[in-house]
Amino acid sequence: MEFGTKAIHAGAEPDPSTGAIMTPIYQTSTYVQEAPGKNKGYEYARSQNPTREALETALAALENGKYGLCFSSGVAATDAVIKLLAPGDEVIAASDMYGGTYRLFTKVFEKFGIKFHFVDMQDAANISKYINANTKLIWLETPTNPLMNIVDIQAVANLAKGKNIIVCVDNTFASPYLQNPLDMGADIVMHSATKYLGGHSDVIHGCLVMNDKDLKDKLYFIQKSCGAVPGPQDCFLVLRGIKTLHVRMERHSENGEKIAHFLKNHPKVGKVYWPGFEDHPGHAIAKKQMRSFGGMISFTLKDETIAAANKVLSSTKLFSLAESLGGVESLINHPASMTHASIPREERIKNGLSDSLIRLSVGIEGADDLIEDLKKAIG
Ligand SMILES: *Cc1c(COP(=O)(O)O)cnc(C)c1O
Repeated sequence: MEFGTKAIHAGAEPDPSTGAIMTPIYQTSTYVQEAPGKNKGYEYARSQNPTREALETALAALENGKYGLCFSSGVAATDAVIKLLAPGDEVIAASDMYGGTYRLFTKVFEKFGIKFHFVDMQDAANISKYINANTKLIWLETPTNPLMNIVDIQAVANLAKGKNIIVCVDNTFASPYLQNPLDMGADIVMHSATKYLGGHSDVIHGCLVMNDKDLKDKLYFIQKSCGAVPGPQDCFLVLRGIKTLHVRMERHSENGEKIAHFLKNHPKVGKVYWPGFEDHPGHAIAKKQMRSFGGMISFTLKDETIAAANKVLSSTKLFSLAESLGGVESLINHPASMTHASIPREERIKNGLSDSLIRLSVGIEGADDLIEDLKKAIG
């Protein structure tokens, strides 16, 4: 089935009691049982909720997976994956990734005896030297946030194959429309549905998708035991967002391409990070594993002072200065002080994330208006 058809129909059944075409928001904490133990499969809403289940089915379909599990945020979904591990286990994680993931790994889970190695995965072979008998998980993002580095998902999955290592891909930046990591051998796909899946900057939500039943059972156990479940209203918003995901992603990608080229040709702009450029080091892999290149772009100015970056950051009118990404409206962000402030400066600089880097989440407004806005702000 084509993606757009799945986006609209997967998980959407007419409501059995009324025929309502849209999934109702089952705003309930519990379910009445006929007799002790005799029920319709619904006991308590932390464990089961029909709105959430409809969304889990839809998400699984979009990622070509068998099972979806929803969480109250992207980091709650990540948290659930790490809780599969035990003290002494080791994780190989990408050195360039979302600051909140880095914070969760280092500040919360290291003290429980889990060891994290942060590795540049642009060359998948770098990972091999960190694999040992304790390695249980490889965690990666591609494109990475905010440097838009590309990791070869299939190459990483091949390295892990047969070694009892779970490969989890944070697919937030690409969305299931641009890239499906399970098809390339990953075991789990994680999303911050707060971003492209929700798509309208009105909900915090996360999810995991997988194919393996045993892995699903373990993660479902963590979902209900730890309780970071989303409410039905939030599930409804993501369900609603998903119905236009394919249309939005096409426009994000079109606008992204125009803006990336505008920036590249601007005399005051330094480096532009966007995997659609043929001279981007990950371009060939991006072309192989992504449907198109999306609307996330980072860039520096030739004047690398923070003052120059700040001037642009505070001068745009259509691009709002805000954290987050993936909504219909365009956002501009300063990773060093905003989304990635939780990564120590030294670590950031080592990974190439400079103090003056600017990140754009290109929305689906008119591209010419967006370019005009940037033109005026850059000066
Ligand atoms: C936002 C984000 C997260 C965290 O998700 P929340 O929904 O904010 O908890 C994880 N990974 C990436 C790439 C993100 O952009």
